[in-house]
Amino acid sequence: SLRAGIVGLPNVGKSTLFNAVVENGKAQAANFPFCTIEPNVGIVAVPDPRLHVLSELSKSQRAVPASIEFVDIAGLVKGASQGEGLGNKFLSHIREVDSILQVVRCFEDNDIVHVNGKVDPKSDIDVINLELVFSDLDQIEKRIEKLKKGKAKDSQSKVKEEAEKSALERIKQALMDGKPARAVALTEFEKDAVKHLCLLTMKPIIYVANVAESDLAEPENNSHVNEVMNLASELRSGIVTISAQVESELTELPSDERTEYLKSLGVNESGLGNLIRETYSLLGLRTYFTSGEKESKAWTILAGMTAPQAAGVIHSDFEKGFIRAETVYCLGYFLIYWWNSNRDVNNLSY
Ligand code: GDP
Repeated sequence: SLRAGIVGLPNVGKSTLFNAVVENGKAQAANFPFCTIEPNVGIVAVPDPRLHVLSELSKSQRAVPASIEFVDIAGLVKGASQGEGLGNKFLSHIREVDSILQVVRCFEDNDIVHVNGKVDPKSDIDVINLELVFSDLDQIEKRIEKLKKGKAKDSQSKVKEEAEKSALERIKQALMDGKPARAVALTEFEKDAVKHLCLLTMKPIIYVANVAESDLAEPENNSHVNEVMNLASELRSGIVTISAQVESELTELPSDERTEYLKSLGVNESGLGNLIRETYSLLGLRTYFTSGEKESKAWTILAGMTAPQAAGVIHSDFEKGFIRAETVYCLGYFLIYWWNSNRDVNNLSY
């Protein structure tokens, strides 16, 4: 499944959020084969009301939602990119995720020490970004040196190596200007050529502004949140406001009391749904469903995939043997029957 890594400076609320997200996920999908794989990895069901509608229509024995894997990557601190031991280990964990969720502290609480002495989202974001930039620069420099030796065996790999080198030179320049690799315009060929490096600043980032419960209803009244919003748009990143504390309190309430509690804070739903939706949208993901008596199941695809490609997510044979698809409108939903080829599957996420 999709992997999202939770990072951030110490004491910003990462563990609180991670534990709450995992607990909430469990509660929302009682019959989902749910687990915490390692202490810091939790799989959470993606909430989606369409799945339940389909499941009821088909009288399915079970409903299987899409899932996201959250990884709590603690320990990313200033100097991590320089460290040989632990620092590098954290960075290598980040290398393995599809998206980064950086928790940024936007709540004031004198009892909880901030590593830099005061709540300062811009500085927090800069510190983490710089570590990611340093790590990428280091990797890129080593790779460029290697490419300069030009060991390509045939003309095809030579072309690819040239594309990689040219892309890396441009990314290096951007990084030295303090910009992330994802801000560099690359051709599809170049993207493919640098993919193997798993550059950290190529990964999409969502800033999770952790606010006090009193700010949840109108987060824009909090100047720290405003600062994060501005930075997020500058850095082409997503932003979600959440209160890790509230998420954590929610897990301790029986489900019928949760809605009441959220209402008393002036919001309609817990932050988890928002966080997942933002992750999906930033990564350009869509969901489609298969439905029958045995089960109704959600599948995750990339926006713009054709119907055969989407079918191939279930099994590569489905893509090879694809004949045609047909769209029908039924009870307020667009349903696609598979047979046809080359219909854009965007239509599948109603
Ligand atoms: P981590 O080091 O980033 O994993 O931070 P933790 O999740 O351990 O949180 C550090 C401290 O901040 C804990 O005492 C939490 O209870 C507290 N904390 C986390 N989120 C909030 C919040 O939204 N509001 C307040 N007031 N405290 C919070």
